[in-house]
Amino acid sequence: MKHPTTDVLISEVGPRDGLQSVKATMPTAAKLRWIDALVAAGLREIEVGSFVPPRLLPQMADAAEVVRHALTHPGVTVMALVPNLRGAEAALAAGVHKLTLPVSASHAHSLANVRKTPDEMVAELARICRLRDERAPEVKIEAGISTAFGCTIQGVVEEDEVIRIAVACAEGGADDVGLSDSTGMGNPAQVRRLFRRLRAAIGAKAGAAHMHNTRGLGLANCLAAWDVGVRTFDSSQGGLGGCPYAPGASGNVVTEDLVFMFEAMGLRTGVDLERLFAARAVLQAGLPGEAVYGMTPEAGLPKGWTQTRVPAAPGPTL
Ligand code: ZN
Repeated sequence: MKHPTTDVLISEVGPRDGLQSVKATMPTAAKLRWIDALVAAGLREIEVGSFVPPRLLPQMADAAEVVRHALTHPGVTVMALVPNLRGAEAALAAGVHKLTLPVSASHAHSLANVRKTPDEMVAELARICRLRDERAPEVKIEAGISTAFGCTIQGVVEEDEVIRIAVACAEGGADDVGLSDSTGMGNPAQVRRLFRRLRAAIGAKAGAAHMHNTRGLGLANCLAAWDVGVRTFDSSQGGLGGCPYAPGASGNVVTEDLVFMFEAMGLRTGVDLERLFAARAVLQAGLPGEAVYGMTPEAGLPKGWTQTRVPAAPGPTL
């Protein structure tokens, strides 16, 4: 659901990717306040949680409640991550607009993470798509090809394998297929090459760039993806989640910096930076003591900054 007056869709993944990567559990009421503040800042697609067993990820135990709250904001695409059919059933019952399923291109990572080979995950995706067709045909399904740019376990991930898995996901019924640099190993040349190949292979089903900033290349990789036609970008407010192996490095690309980059280039994101900074304060209040990242919020907006304003979207304001 791209906002008609924007050039870029920023898909905020902090409430899922960020919160599941930190040890502390944000109280449900604080999550709801944060989501409200993100909506007020203009974000129109938010990954609000994941449907996984609470014993594995207690931070996500309230996913259904968070989804139900997020659904009260008109015009916002409410997404959730599901690792399997069971998670998909729960997410569909909660009423999500869009499901995202991580499918690892690295055999070793896939086995370690979900105890399934990449091809077994593709088969799971096809089952989820059939369930969707029966129960909620309006719901969109995204496959996120994780470790697409490298894997911390197996190292190099063959590009042919990434494309093969992406094509299998598209054929299995996914509406779009994005590429994730889950380990922050990608570089701009690789990003250009792989997204070009992805588009050549699956056309309009080529989806989002999900970049991590582990080695400081998150924004450069997003810009490289933009250059070859990617228009949806996942990012996380405050780069929440960090990286235990790279102290000082944020996890996901920082939403504040990504919005600043595109807006400074004259590309409309629909996100108001000052309200986004206000949402950052709400996040910090909900997770006291947790490290948040981002250069733009630290430095502030440049003198004379004027942002292209988009018409106020529906939903509550701060
Ligand atoms: Zn991620």
